[in-house]
Amino acid sequence: MGNETRKLSDEYEVSEVLGRGGFSVVRKGTKKSSSDTKTHVAIKTLRRVGTASNSNNPSGFPRPKGGEKKSTAAMMGFPTWRQVSVSDALLTNEILVMRRIVENVSPHPNVIDLYDVYEDSNGVHLVLELCSGGELFDRIVAQDRYSETEAAGVVRQIASGLEAIHRANIVHRDLKPENCLFLDVRRDSPLKIMDFGLSSVEEFTDPVVGLFGSIDYVSPEALSQGKITTKSDMWSLGVILYILLSGYPPFIAQNNRQKQQMIMNGNFSFYEKTWKGITRSAKQLISDLLIVDPSRRPSAQDLLSHPWVVGDKAKDDAMDPEIVSRLQSFNARRKLRAVAIASIWSTTIFLRTKKLKSLVGTHDLTEEEIENLRMSFKKICVSGDNATLSEFEEVL
Ligand code: ATP
Repeated sequence: MGNETRKLSDEYEVSEVLGRGGFSVVRKGTKKSSSDTKTHVAIKTLRRVGTASNSNNPSGFPRPKGGEKKSTAAMMGFPTWRQVSVSDALLTNEILVMRRIVENVSPHPNVIDLYDVYEDSNGVHLVLELCSGGELFDRIVAQDRYSETEAAGVVRQIASGLEAIHRANIVHRDLKPENCLFLDVRRDSPLKIMDFGLSSVEEFTDPVVGLFGSIDYVSPEALSQGKITTKSDMWSLGVILYILLSGYPPFIAQNNRQKQQMIMNGNFSFYEKTWKGITRSAKQLISDLLIVDPSRRPSAQDLLSHPWVVGDKAKDDAMDPEIVSRLQSFNARRKLRAVAIASIWSTTIFLRTKKLKSLVGTHDLTEEEIENLRMSFKKICVSGDNATLSEFEEVL
């Protein structure tokens, strides 16, 4: 793994874009040498946003401790690579965590696998297991039948993946539905936890701080800059479960400051109208996961023997159609935000403007949401891309 002389294009045919993230573009790849059965992979290219010599540190992220001379990749056993800039905390962090996963977790049915790593002038390319089954919520809203049993199956798989990474002392720190992809389109396809860009390995990494997206899934201890532990992921799973069973998030407020306050106080409820048909066991599980004191939250291991999670107490009756339709619109809005944020980082100004225009045109955004989008864009543009900012304002 990781040989300086090898080139990605020598070994993989790189094709369509599968998705874009804040600092990355993910493309489909096909192994050139595999003759009969084609091996398809996902190639995540992380581009650098800063260098060690850049004193402005435009990424705005804290630099990893004590690593100014030696690259993290080299320290973690990729000695033949060119040095990866240590100032690019996001990039080195993701590699380090993925390396840890390869050594301690893989293969696991619910955790994305890393096959190889290449580096060139475009950045670092992670060759990952290809997930072609779509995002968690996309599949649920497209299903003709959805019940607590299916929701419990989802929680079971996420808990199983979390249990494995937590055992390897990895905290995901950014668990949300869009970071859970199905491996393939089969109905019983495994669900994979991915995107370890903000994750931390206890004792090794300085957690990378970067809350650009929604704070919906963020634990109270993360918001109050307390100690982040594996239990922080359990909070996020509690939020996902709440949404899975109601179609809306547990903490809804006029603005982020209010929402933050609600999260820190664990101030949520089960509105009778929505929740009357949901089993008591599921509601109790959510209440246990959304406890402000992390030490009182159940662990991933605990969940794996929980009666609702294993399916004994989960109802098999079809869910109220209103819940599914709420989940549908929640999902559409979430995707719009994701595209907006990702497009901010995209290099093709024309394309992203066009995409935003069409998306904003087809979605019914509130003033508040437009303002939030505008503000997050402004914040990110502090790094100096004024042209993009005015284009964005024109669109909205
Ligand atoms: P973010 O800004 O959300 O943190 P990121 O830069 O870390 O994003 P990812 O979330 O890992 O990037 O990937 C971006 C998108 O690419 C995903 O939303 C998904 O659609 C697609 N993608 C990532 N990994 C895979 C994979 N292994 N198989 C298929 N698609 C993938």
